[in-house]
Order: sequence, then structure tokens, then C-alpha cells
Amino acid sequence: MEHLNSTQIIESGALSDAGMYEDALDTVSHEFFHVWNVKRLRPIELGPWDFTRPLNTRSLWIAEGITNYYGHLMQRRAGLWTDERLYRELAMQIGVIENAPGSRLMSAEEASLLAPFLDGAPTRQQTNLGQTSISYYDKGEVLGLTLDLLIRGKTGGRNSLDDVMRRMYEEFYRNSSNATYYLRGRGYTVEDFARVVSETAGSDFTDFFARHVRGVEPPPYDEAFAQLGLRLTKTSAASSSSNATPAAARRSEYRIEEMKNAPVPIHELRRRWLRGE
Ligand SMILES: [Zn+2]
Repeated sequence: MEHLNSTQIIESGALSDAGMYEDALDTVSHEFFHVWNVKRLRPIELGPWDFTRPLNTRSLWIAEGITNYYGHLMQRRAGLWTDERLYRELAMQIGVIENAPGSRLMSAEEASLLAPFLDGAPTRQQTNLGQTSISYYDKGEVLGLTLDLLIRGKTGGRNSLDDVMRRMYEEFYRNSSNATYYLRGRGYTVEDFARVVSETAGSDFTDFFARHVRGVEPPPYDEAFAQLGLRLTKTSAASSSSNATPAAARRSEYRIEEMKNAPVPIHELRRRWLRGE
């Protein structure tokens, strides 16, 4: 759980157990990014708090999903992960979204608004949310990745999602008058975020937000990956079990591959994305 100057991380086993140390580092990476994204730079509904009403926000896909994206990207940039390991993780996230029946029914904004019903909230009533909802963590990560690659492509590598986050931090945290006595700055709206994306990309992203953030159209993966000489491939995973459910039988597996014949400047854009330069 992220706090302003600390975090509390609880693992279900010993760090010496198989995979547990890597799992803990993954959580550390995510919570560390929260120091900036959500604890200081924050959606307008998340501080100052209005305890007299429910605090619903359309921005959890930014606050949690983009934190998820950087949590993974930072492990590559820190040298803990190889390029292949990052590609595997991002392709897995895309698979989670694209294989979910709910991804054509629920948008990133709507998933954010429904957090109290989706985020492990206990309920006595059986619901169909498993078939009709998506996670704003996964969808936000996939949207963050897509935006990052598109901005890098459109600006020839001069700008990226890193710059969007820096500009947001400057505008809403460092250079903003305090909206509350206990914390610097003020909160942002999805529209503020969309504006800063367009400014940073030097190109209007209004349509992107309408179709892929407020709407349920799949992100433009092919266009985004091509910017950095990458390709997303999809294979239908044949189920080994004869009694698999129809949904399981239709599952696709996603892979991210480098296009070896991409021009040198494109390879350079990709190198800088992976290294954080
Ligand atoms: Zn988080």
C-alpha cells in the first residue's frame, strides 16, 4: 500500500521461495512510482478528500495503470529485466485485455469509476462482472504503453510519456497553488491529462481518448509498435483440454517481436525507450 513517504508490502511467503523475490521487486517498483504518480500528482477526486460522499474518479487507469506500466519498464531500465522479459510482460498484459470478454463492453474510464465494485470488494450477491468488466490496472498499462510508443514515433523520439508525466508533475504538483493545507498542488482531470498528451505529442489526441479511453475500441497496437520497429503477433492457443470452455478455447497468445530489418533510427528510438534516455 502506497503512502506519501513510505510503503507497506506484504508477501505471502519467504523471499527465498521460488519467484517470491522477483514478485517483491515487481511490487516495490510499482509502489516506488506511486511516490510521484498518485501520492503527489493525483486525480482531482483523490485529495483534498471530501468525506461526505463517495470518491469516484475516471482516472484510476492513469493513477494505477500507468504506474503498472512504469513499474515494469523501470525494471528493464534498472537492468533487472532483459528486453525479452519486458516484451513478455507487456504482451501478457495485452493478452489479459484482449482475451477478456469485458474489454469490448467496459472502457478504461468506466472501470475506474466502478472500482468499489471491481477491486476485491466483498459482495454477497453473485454477479456476471467476470464476463463484463476489465481491470483498470491492465487496461491502463496497455493504454500507457500505446501512448508512449505513439508519442515517441510522432516526435521522432524528442518526447515520450516520460515527458507527459514530468509536465503533469510540474503543472499540477510543483507549480500549482495548493488546493489543500496538507498537500502541495491540485488534482487533475482526464481532460487535463489528454491536453498534456496532445501538447507533448504535438498532435491532437482527442480522438484517441474518445475511442480508446472513453470508448472500448482496441488500442492501435500495430501503429504504436511499428513506431519503434516492433511487431505484435497473435496466435490462437489450442487448448490441451477437451472439456475447455468455449471462451478458453478462443484465447489468443500475444508476442512482441523486434523487426530486424527496421531502419537504424528506429532501432535507436527503441533503444532509448528501453534505456530511459
Ligand atoms: Zn498501485
